[in-house]
Amino acid sequence: MKTEAPPGPRGADGKSAETRDGKSAGARDGKSAEGREDRLADGRDGKSAKAEARGKGARRGRELTIKGIPISPGVAIGTVYDTAEAPAAAPRRNITAGQVEAERARLNAAIAASRKQVSKLKARLAILPEEAQEELEPLLDAYSMMLGESRLIRGARKRIDAELLSAETAVDDEADAIANAILQARDDDKAGLRRRAGEVHEIARRLTRNLTESGFRSFKDVPEGSILIAEELTPADAALLDPSRIAGVAAEEGGADGHTAIMLRALGIPSVLGLPGLANALSRGDQAVLDGGAGTIVLRPGPEALAAGREASVAYAKERTRLGKLRRLPAITTDGEEMELQANLEIPAELPLIAQAGAQGVGLVRTEFLFMNRQGLPDEEAHYEAYRQIVEGTDGAGVTIRVLDWGGEKDMEALAEGIEPFHAGPNPALGLRGIRMLLRRPELLEVQFAAILRVAALGKVRILLPMVTIPEEVSKAREIYDRVVKRVRRRGVTLPEKLPPLGVMIETPGAALAADAIALEADFFAIGTNDLAMYTLAVDRAEVEVSHLYDPLHPAVLRLIQFATEAALRLRMPVSVCGEMAGNPRLVPLLMGLGLRSLSMNASAIPRVKQMVRALNVDDCARFARRVMEQSDPLRIQELVMNFVPGEGKG
Ligand code: PEP
Ligand code: MG
Repeated sequence: MKTEAPPGPRGADGKSAETRDGKSAGARDGKSAEGREDRLADGRDGKSAKAEARGKGARRGRELTIKGIPISPGVAIGTVYDTAEAPAAAPRRNITAGQVEAERARLNAAIAASRKQVSKLKARLAILPEEAQEELEPLLDAYSMMLGESRLIRGARKRIDAELLSAETAVDDEADAIANAILQARDDDKAGLRRRAGEVHEIARRLTRNLTESGFRSFKDVPEGSILIAEELTPADAALLDPSRIAGVAAEEGGADGHTAIMLRALGIPSVLGLPGLANALSRGDQAVLDGGAGTIVLRPGPEALAAGREASVAYAKERTRLGKLRRLPAITTDGEEMELQANLEIPAELPLIAQAGAQGVGLVRTEFLFMNRQGLPDEEAHYEAYRQIVEGTDGAGVTIRVLDWGGEKDMEALAEGIEPFHAGPNPALGLRGIRMLLRRPELLEVQFAAILRVAALGKVRILLPMVTIPEEVSKAREIYDRVVKRVRRRGVTLPEKLPPLGVMIETPGAALAADAIALEADFFAIGTNDLAMYTLAVDRAEVEVSHLYDPLHPAVLRLIQFATEAALRLRMPVSVCGEMAGNPRLVPLLMGLGLRSLSMNASAIPRVKQMVRALNVDDCARFARRVMEQSDPLRIQELVMNFVPGEGKG
């Protein structure tokens, strides 16, 4: 159980440090007399304004429960720590002439990200009272304009080119120059001038946050035992969290199957995402009870809520102890059919958890962690060291290493520099993601292949290609693989007689429907149901606004899983599921009934899934799957799945 924590750095007196521009905590609370600029110039996207609009902070001090999306189970009781309060760290930095292009590209990416955020804020205005909308809309319009070909942007670009400044420094200097010019203007409306100068600074701050936060946000100063609060947490941020220090995580944005959610589950941190209005409702130093399994956060809990939280925490610990006892038992059905239950790995820090969970090897290594929170690309040695640690840490039980799946929500800003001049395009999830990017930059693939081949001498490994949609991508990757094999052999490296097989992620409807053709090129399939559901249903897996539509039990998704599984089984080719579906015990009867015998999931899910497998009978599963596959209504499928009782063979 995570215990109550001492008050955070904001302290019990409710005073926090000043922001970069010296704005006080008062302005952040929306109490400033200056009006609209302070409401949005507070680094919290107008959330304090929304709080005020919704009732002048009437809720402050009162217990408040907010329901979000359950992400990672466990109960945390502690003091909240709002990451939005931490100013972006942007030390002054000069660059060389050779870095100008890259710096311009970083600025462009930050402008694009800022524009996206501002349009999202605009879209959300609709939930505010009319008066607040009238006040905020023109301000957001002004922000959008400033993110166009404004003086700020033109000036910042010029400073990068002419003064050889980093993008952050250029933005900062230009914003200061513009704001000073505004403040010195001859105008009696001093409040108006201050307001305009504040708007410039706010946009500069947003750009700086976008330039610095992703991949370089530090959580070192978060007081131990805190519940971390964020507007949005990127996968790279999640990779920086220390589960022994952070009691829980709560964020306004994010869906259940986004990569951030996956990381949080992997780290075993009790977490809830998609909590609407969370940042508004907080006050500094608030206590909270977060229940990751129920998907709730209670702010300022009264004695009853605190007692309930403690009780839930004890119950969770007992359940974990009970499940821990399953570790040494085999994953075998009542009629003797064996299931392979493997773990997904996001970062090597998970290895002890994977061992504890009783996983039969690692069914998916997401190698993106090697590219996060760093500048420049990892070399072959860095890859080799990481893979060696994983292969040795799993006692040769078998490790499936997926080559880099860059792009989409996994955009790693730190990596952007290393893979210039490519950009994922206006719609990154449909752009240069996964294998598409790797085939454009084969040297990235070559480095990973070489490191994997070297590590194959230490244990059983397989290679997995992400985001494949056509058979040719596999054959092209195989050509590169063959070349690297020769090169590595020439270097004198001894390779095992049986080289690591080359498998394919089936994670787009295109790949699933062409699975029979792709199977001819591939050595095995891993069905990535997270992306498969996203692309099939046209629902961004990390987008809170449409998370209710994200449904891996939608008949379209199930039919694609069935089609791909059958294509593999016809060729007697190994096939597994490694999306989040695999870790949901309720879905195991259906997946087994569709013919799957290998599942890879977040390590903490293994005991519950194993418990389910041990209660099942294969014939019942097959009958049940036939029944489910006859349905066309997603709700009816949900109902059948939820009501399936192992041993009774009915749903
Ligand atoms: C998937 O898409 O289901 C998958 C396992 O890959 P990722 O979640 O890393 O995109
Ligand atoms: Mg995927």
